[in-house]
Amino acid sequence: MGYMHKVFLSGSGIYGCSNCGTHLALKDKVTSKLYTGQYGRAYLVDEVTNVRAGEADKRSMTTGVHIVRDIMCMECNRYLGWTYITAFSADQKFKEGKFILEKELICDRSRDWD
Ligand SMILES: [Zn+2]
Repeated sequence: MGYMHKVFLSGSGIYGCSNCGTHLALKDKVTSKLYTGQYGRAYLVDEVTNVRAGEADKRSMTTGVHIVRDIMCMECNRYLGWTYITAFSADQKFKEGKFILEKELICDRSRDWD
C-alpha cells in the first residue's frame, strides 16, 4: 500500500471523524439515519472518503446475513462503522457498496466552511 492522500471535502454539510476531524462524508450522501450500529444510531451513506477497510467478515444482522468490512479513519485509525460487500437477501442488495457511519463516532465539520 502506498501513501494515501487525505481528501478535503467541500460542501454545505460535512461529517468528520470525531477524534481527529478528518473529513469523511458529505451530508448529501446520507441516505438514511435510521440504522443501528454498535454505539447506537448510525447513518447509511453512499460515499465515504479517508477511511481504510478491514478484513471481510460475515455477520448476522437484524436484516439478515451480510459480508461487511469495518472501516477505520485513515488518519487516527479509529473504528467508524462498516461497509457492505455482499447482502444475501434480494431486498437488502441496495446496501452493497454503501457505508455505515456510527453517529457517536462522527462530528459535524460544516463550520470549517463558514
Ligand atoms: Zn480520525
